[in-house]
Amino acid sequence: MTKKIPLLILGAGIAGMGAAWKAKTTGIEFKIIDISDHAGGMMQTEYVQGHTLDQGPNSCVQSPTYLNFLKYLGISNQVVKASAQGKKRYIFQKNGVKSVSAFKDILLGNWISTGGKLRLLIEPFRKKGTANDETVYDFLKRRIGKEAVKLLVDPVLGGIYAGDIKKLSALTVLHSMKIGEQRYGSLFRTLLNNRSASRVITNIQGGFSTINYAFEAKFKDECLLGHRVECITPLTSGFEVVVNGTRFLCDRIVSTLPTHVLAEIISSSSLKSHLNKLSYAPLCASSYSLDKDHSAISGFGILIPSTLKKTIKGILFASDIFPGRAKDGERNMTVFHSTPQNEDSINSELEEILGTQQTYLLAQKTWLNAIPQFEIGFQDWKQHLYKTIPEGMFLAGNYLGKVGVSDVLESGYNLRL
Ligand SMILES: Cc1cc2nc3c(=O)[nH]c(=O)nc-3n(C[C@H](O)[C@H](O)[C@H](O)COP(=O)(O)OP(=O)(O)OC[C@H]3O[C@@H](n4cnc5c(N)ncnc54)[C@H](O)[C@@H]3O)c2cc1C
Repeated sequence: MTKKIPLLILGAGIAGMGAAWKAKTTGIEFKIIDISDHAGGMMQTEYVQGHTLDQGPNSCVQSPTYLNFLKYLGISNQVVKASAQGKKRYIFQKNGVKSVSAFKDILLGNWISTGGKLRLLIEPFRKKGTANDETVYDFLKRRIGKEAVKLLVDPVLGGIYAGDIKKLSALTVLHSMKIGEQRYGSLFRTLLNNRSASRVITNIQGGFSTINYAFEAKFKDECLLGHRVECITPLTSGFEVVVNGTRFLCDRIVSTLPTHVLAEIISSSSLKSHLNKLSYAPLCASSYSLDKDHSAISGFGILIPSTLKKTIKGILFASDIFPGRAKDGERNMTVFHSTPQNEDSINSELEEILGTQQTYLLAQKTWLNAIPQFEIGFQDWKQHLYKTIPEGMFLAGNYLGKVGVSDVLESGYNLRL
């Protein structure tokens, strides 16, 4: 059986949702297809023993587009902003957990040497670099010195990208800083000039799955969930797409599928090999409960530098940031690590970091292809990708250079369909 449709959107993660929202408001007839029984992709919430546990994104930097999308879905009144407690941030160092909530914490802290602090402070007087792109490590070592990179930047960017700062592209993952260096001559001045843009960190009542349920209800006529895209063949005009054995003929497609999935199912061999050049890092999210009365540290979370060779990369105190998500008398936290681990090894590290044994595992999710790795050369890879895709194919998703939920939504919504 063959079905004809003007537009197919492949993947119903936040990028696919953005594209669907655009198509619907533009009046284009379309279907949105996902292999999973639910929309949302990485946005997944589990409800375990009275706890609300996000297993993918835990928070989102709210943008006007994101808020408008929630309004469109009728759930903007359920947005939950991060608490004041959630502003406290920490880094684990050899001699324990250190606060990095304010710049003065770094200057007054005993875990960074006087030389390291001075090197950080002379950043505004460093010469501008000349390389168009360089690794995050090389860029920041040049600007703020090796010690601050090792103790401060490595845990933060390692936490966001689950990757190696000696490989990640500064032009991609620190784009505004790299541009700011040229424009203002310094990172401090760049930060001062960009400070008006306030970052509002949010979640939503019931966790990110609330967005998925609202989307499924609003787009019930367009959603084909539990349907696998099996094969895409570009035709002289349009595409043939096989979905669960059914042949669709469409004029245009939006692919939000991860690059390794698109590579498997697209018929063009040059596109296949190009897509396979982008790698993804794995990430495991283990949700733990801990006793509310225990004096263990609280706040946004704790990041761990890779040089300490710990299994745990970071801990996010989910129910401190967004109260109302834990069972009475308990708190919950998400512990991130790169490979599945037995509970004992995580527990012993948690005890070392938090100083408590009073934690127990509630849920665990392993993402084998969690975060695309934007390494040196990524911008060339992306440009070549746009040149290689067939006419009528549009791309959106986190593999285009920005992984945050609001940015990925915009990658779909901003398409000129
Ligand atoms: C553990 C973790 C924590 C994170 N934390 C944060 C955070 O706190 N804040 C933040 O802003 N971002 C965070 N991110 C990043 C953010 O969640 C992602 O970048 C974003 O959700 C990706 O959206 P997407 O639509 O590009 O991809 P996906 O969500 O992966 O969507 C792709 C969709 O394609 C579908 N699919 C795959 N194969 C097929 C097929 N053959 N046929 C049909 N459908 C198919 C999948 O089922 C999926 O629904 C986190 C990510 C992870 C993994």
